[in-house]
Amino acid sequence: MTATTDAPLIGVVALQGGFAAHERMLRGLGARVREVRTPADLEGLEGLVWPGGESTTMTLAVEREGLAEPLRALVADGTPVFGTCAGMIMLDRAHLGLLDVLCRRNAFGRQLHSFEADLHVPGVTDGQEPIRAVFIRAPWVREAGPDVEVLAEVDGHPVAVRQGNLLAVSFHPELSDDVRLHRRFLELVLARRGDR
Ligand code: GLN
Repeated sequence: MTATTDAPLIGVVALQGGFAAHERMLRGLGARVREVRTPADLEGLEGLVWPGGESTTMTLAVEREGLAEPLRALVADGTPVFGTCAGMIMLDRAHLGLLDVLCRRNAFGRQLHSFEADLHVPGVTDGQEPIRAVFIRAPWVREAGPDVEVLAEVDGHPVAVRQGNLLAVSFHPELSDDVRLHRRFLELVLARRGDR
């Protein structure tokens, strides 16, 4: 599919980290993509992807650019957001407070730099093969509020969650050719369009 003017406009937070791979994946699914660095870049977005990277650096950049309040407004307005790895951390209670979870950073152990795991995600892999998830210094969710749906776990720890229009995973779906999570996210975006 090629992007048309009717294609959803998705922002990808490009303060730091792995935004390019997300952009490629979203474009491959037919979305229009805009890199987000300043509050003005949020204008008119129908969805936002927050890539992995390093959450301390991202936190400083959010402060520097004055992005926290405009991001809260975007989410309050119902705009779907998809956070991955450090992007999940940025959404939690200890950071932007958009997703009612608390993450443990580098939760799988410092020594364990990366690993892969097969995950079933309801609404995404139903009746299909699991997602081969790539974890890189990944967080897990250590507390989750009542409105948070746990979609997948590793060793009993949530690594994929959804709360309304917020989707977050502690792994890197952009680092494979499995587009199913991004496609699910775009479905949330299009569903919201239908609601308006
Ligand atoms: N360990 C990183 C952090 O705490 C997240 C790692 C990642 O995004 N791959 O910010």
